[in-house]
Amino acid sequence: MKAQFEPILEQVLRRNPGEIEFHQAVREVFDSLGPVLAKHPQYADAAVLERICEPERQIIFRVPWVDDAGHVLINRGFRVEFNSALGPFKGGLRFHPSVYLGIVKFLGFEQVFKNSLTGMPIGGGKGGSDFDPRGRSEGEVMRFCQSFMTELYRHLGEYTDVPAGDIGVGGREIGYLFGQYKRITNRYESGVLTGKGVSWGGSLVRTEATGYGTVLFAEQMLRTRGMSFDGRRVLVSGSGNVAIYAIEKAQQLGGKVVAASDSRGFVLDEQGIDVSLLKQVKEVERASIEVYAQRRGNGAVFVPGERVWAAGGDIALPCATQNELDESDAKNLLNGGVVAIAEGANMPTTPEATALFQEAGVLFAPGKAANAGGVATSALEMQQNASRDAWTFDYTANRLAAIMSGIHDRCATTADEYGQPGNYVMGANVAGFLKVADAMLALGVV
Ligand code: GLU
Repeated sequence: MKAQFEPILEQVLRRNPGEIEFHQAVREVFDSLGPVLAKHPQYADAAVLERICEPERQIIFRVPWVDDAGHVLINRGFRVEFNSALGPFKGGLRFHPSVYLGIVKFLGFEQVFKNSLTGMPIGGGKGGSDFDPRGRSEGEVMRFCQSFMTELYRHLGEYTDVPAGDIGVGGREIGYLFGQYKRITNRYESGVLTGKGVSWGGSLVRTEATGYGTVLFAEQMLRTRGMSFDGRRVLVSGSGNVAIYAIEKAQQLGGKVVAASDSRGFVLDEQGIDVSLLKQVKEVERASIEVYAQRRGNGAVFVPGERVWAAGGDIALPCATQNELDESDAKNLLNGGVVAIAEGANMPTTPEATALFQEAGVLFAPGKAANAGGVATSALEMQQNASRDAWTFDYTANRLAAIMSGIHDRCATTADEYGQPGNYVMGANVAGFLKVADAMLALGVV
């Protein structure tokens, strides 16, 4: 990393002690920006990097709620409003026991660049709680969401901050959150949350968008080398919203997806994952993926405590969570002949693993580009809400496809321009940075 980044990084480390995921996300972006600062000194002169690493506002709050047994429980809620130079703060809420300020901040930081890359008018933010929805009843989840929103609502608004889902927050939770926001404010402010149900202001394709978008990005990337999904063996990690729709789209394009996983292990299904069974097990029953293998009845096996990557495949789509693919996984994948990796999750590949892929010259799409289809479709939902309109599935899906190819081309062109053709990590970081940085310069010292 260039000398001029060192003091800025040191300040980030000092101001945000122990927040290792945030440090990792900042380092990764800084690693790409050397050539930009060399070419455009105005960013350093105006301390744009120092400003971009410091969230505009950070909110931490108590979330008290009562479980089914009548016990009072306390969780911690967060919303990090990172950057609003391009539009209202925009980004999901994550409910998971691992959530703390460092996770929210890394996600918010990534979101700033991702949202910029989409070309849509959205700033970056992220929030969530250390609440663990696993094993909680409907009533408990509802009361938790209501309590969470009872504090958060004062910070939100369709022109201010617009949350959506992330891990542990799907359509059900968005419904409870929106219901509470509406009660407190006495406003049917559709544009305050995205990922809503389609009958009450949600957008078609939003559910599928992150997974579909990841595969569409990978398809574009494969095309640059004359390849496609057709007939390829595909490994997907995770079995949540992103993974399910990545599998569905990869299959539509002729890929054979043989693996998916959850926190307990993975299933290997050599005949190809049955998406409707996976949806039934994970989304309807909210059960372990082990149940999928038991019910499939075709020799599919559940491998406890292991990651999918050892199964070997041509295309790898990490769609579970941060740092789920490390150096040894990367070696396994490379030994198995992987040709492309596209991140459906946020920062799933460790920096060491990313370096191995890049040295090997395989195609690698970072999450902030490859998984931007979710938030981009959230922006399409906001457009529909603002115009009190509802678009068809096909129209919305075509918009998503055009956005994903726009992001792909922007990353590729930027990487070419800065002398690193094929480096989508640098292309995404630089293209994402330039748009936000220019807006920040234009808005004065903000
Ligand atoms: N949580 C998603 C992401 O990581 C979506 C955010 C949104 O739709 O606002 O981009």
